[in-house]
Amino acid sequence: MPAAASISRRQLLKGRTATPPFAPRPPGVTEVSVGHCTGCAACVEACPQDILSLSAGRVRLLPELGECLFCGACAEACPEPVFDATRVMAHRVIIDDNCLARADITCMACRDACPESAIIMRPRIGGPFLPKLDDALCIGCGACIALCPGQAITYSPLGGPP
Ligand code: SF4
Ligand code: SF4
Ligand code: SF4
Repeated sequence: MPAAASISRRQLLKGRTATPPFAPRPPGVTEVSVGHCTGCAACVEACPQDILSLSAGRVRLLPELGECLFCGACAEACPEPVFDATRVMAHRVIIDDNCLARADITCMACRDACPESAIIMRPRIGGPFLPKLDDALCIGCGACIALCPGQAITYSPLGGPP
């Protein structure tokens, strides 16, 4: 048996498959619908924010490069059934321990950047205010990711980590 096939079978028996890591997608694209993506790059060219790219031949969002405006230009450019009409992102954000406020440095950049008021600053004793995200209000636009000086904001699939 060829080595590659042997490794594949071993992974299968251990319950591990070659599932790629979670990637954020533009609004209206799900992990199922992205299966229709042919990698033509029409959406990448259409995005006025230049925040789309192809990864493994499929469209992905790069929130760390800038905010999605939900303008719909990507959906309009796409010739395949990749985008649904909801324009909802399939991810939300997470603020991790790299937040500067946790290192006693006052920072409210994410709160100030958020167009949905999804981040509030909570007072605490003995240190700067800490950001708290309201998952229900976050639309996954990425404005906070791009502007966070601590690179403390990442994303996860809607409904929880993978
Ligand atoms: S909705 Fe607009 S800004 Fe957002 S990824 Fe699509 S083209 Fe870019
Ligand atoms: S335009 Fe549609 S098919 Fe082409 S890369 Fe973008 S999502 Fe994929
Ligand atoms: S990704 Fe969520 S928390 Fe961050 S700016 Fe956009 S709506 Fe606000």
